[in-house]
Amino acid sequence: MSLLSQQELRSLAHEYGTPLYVYDAATITGQYKKLSSAFAETDTRFFYACKALTNIQVLKHINGLGCSVDCSSINEVKLALRAGFDPGNILYTSNGIHFSEIEEAQGLGVHINIDSLSNLEKFGRKFGHSYPVGIRLRPNIMGGGNLKVSTGHDKSKFGIPVDQLDKILTLVSTHNLYIQNLHIHTGSDIKDVDTFIKGIDVLFDIIPSFHELDSIDLGGGFKVPYQEGDAETDIPLLAKKVKEAFDNHPNSDGRHLQVWFEPGKFLVSAAGYLVTEVNVLKETSATTFAGVNSGFNHLIRPMFYEAYHRIENISNPTGVQKEYSVVGNICETDTFAWDRKLNEVREGDLLVFYNAGAYGFEMSSNFNSRFKPAEVLVENGKARLIRRRDEFEDLLRNQVINQELKMKN
Ligand SMILES: *Cc1c(COP(=O)(O)O)cnc(C)c1O
Repeated sequence: MSLLSQQELRSLAHEYGTPLYVYDAATITGQYKKLSSAFAETDTRFFYACKALTNIQVLKHINGLGCSVDCSSINEVKLALRAGFDPGNILYTSNGIHFSEIEEAQGLGVHINIDSLSNLEKFGRKFGHSYPVGIRLRPNIMGGGNLKVSTGHDKSKFGIPVDQLDKILTLVSTHNLYIQNLHIHTGSDIKDVDTFIKGIDVLFDIIPSFHELDSIDLGGGFKVPYQEGDAETDIPLLAKKVKEAFDNHPNSDGRHLQVWFEPGKFLVSAAGYLVTEVNVLKETSATTFAGVNSGFNHLIRPMFYEAYHRIENISNPTGVQKEYSVVGNICETDTFAWDRKLNEVREGDLLVFYNAGAYGFEMSSNFNSRFKPAEVLVENGKARLIRRRDEFEDLLRNQVINQELKMKN
């Protein structure tokens, strides 16, 4: 699974310090090729859901692969433009945003998915038929790893519920809306490919009501293996079933529709490593704590989603295995792993967290006034710094410091 060797990770930690995020561009390329080759027989387009990892150098690499990009905020749209994506290759799938952001996205010439009746109505009033738009639907299907990452069920805030189709169609005809795409995204960590096929079935029922569609968007959420024995979403099987669904569905009316996907985690998860250093070993009667120089300020997935991340002691790879609770240095309970078997850990050893590319750095913070880690990208056999580590002054940036002086003036 892992393309970077322990030796490479050790030497990068030595050169750039820890905690350190390292990304391997070749892994991202490999994941993209898995998708594009599996879907070679279907007219498909992939939009990288960049909220997983937005470092601009990573975005540039992904743009270079010919992949498009899906954004969750207007700032991500602007980052994608800055990274060189063509507006026609940018999709803005928002939720709960102010209409002014949609107007701004329209001005930038990107694809837009709208996820509320109220914004759809505002869009219709302002732009009528002059600008194509997509509708994010809530299919009322349960999918994904757990409730926190499931977005398509009947209590989810995301999308316009399909049972409000009448209201959508009224808006479409009142304002002569140009509906180019129908979108659903049912969640993250979706292993069962039938979840996507159920989504297609929901869409096929309503496709005939939209005469100007040129694509449907099945969202992202492909599962990646986090621990040994975990399965990845079976992409070739998914491609086969999607093709069959299109070939056989009576309601596809012979219309040509491009299929869009929005993989986030799938493209970048395995490409990322968080390298930390053990500050303190603490023996207690219940467990031995290995306290690293990190915490949920750098990688929150274990605490937020109970996510499992594989951990290795790369400083003592042949040491005797023992059980440790791997914890951070934050003044909150920030346990990365309970009772995890690791090669004997000594203070100063480097512990690597695998699968740290998606929702790792991106969800980091300066909690406890600690610095965010540096980021390094390994591309074409060369490593380079793509974000410097925070410095003390970064913590004060934007804070108003000389307030008293100003008030006297
Ligand atoms: C988060 C998100 C994705 C990507 O989900 P992954 O689990 O990272 O693949 C795709 N589409 C939308 C609309 C999203 O919000």
